[in-house]
Amino acid sequence: MEKDIATASIKIGISSCLLGEKVRFDGGHKHAPFITDTMGKLFTLVGVCPEVGCGLSTPREAMRLEGDPAAPRLMTIKTRQDLTEQMLAFCRERVCELEKEELCGFIFKKNSPSSGLFRVKVYNRGVPLESGRGLFADAIVRHFPLLPVEEEGRLCDVAIREEFIERVLTCRRRMDRIKVVSPPAP
Ligand code: SF4
Repeated sequence: MEKDIATASIKIGISSCLLGEKVRFDGGHKHAPFITDTMGKLFTLVGVCPEVGCGLSTPREAMRLEGDPAAPRLMTIKTRQDLTEQMLAFCRERVCELEKEELCGFIFKKNSPSSGLFRVKVYNRGVPLESGRGLFADAIVRHFPLLPVEEEGRLCDVAIREEFIERVLTCRRRMDRIKVVSPPAP
């Protein structure tokens, strides 16, 4: 199915593993056909895997968030490597690059210590609290406060999906209005 010409130029960021890319810690993917077969037909999806992007290999050791839920550390579970600074350096660079993409939305993989948007587990003294956000998802939300964002699981719900699509279209219209009001300097 061809993309709708009116929406094909609209870009949405997405966790790469949801596109079927084998970037997960176990060497697999988490392809979400209900996203690629719906929004992938309407919009251009821009994949980002922050763990591969920050220099980690595939496969790699599993990791999790630990410590203060407001400022958690990204730790490998077995060998206890602290990957926080490595990930945050990637986040700083990538969010600036993504400005050029003019994203109108972002779809995140749930439960990931890097990409999860809502209720990601943060282990404090061994006790998991479902109160955190993946470090990359957090960087995106902070850098693009008006960007429509969602987690992949919630988009199974048709009403949530349609509402997200509407927010994406509104975001595009707002960007286009700003361009008309403030054309680029000659
Ligand atoms: S959840 Fe995020 S970090 Fe993990 S494999 Fe998918 S895109 Fe990469």
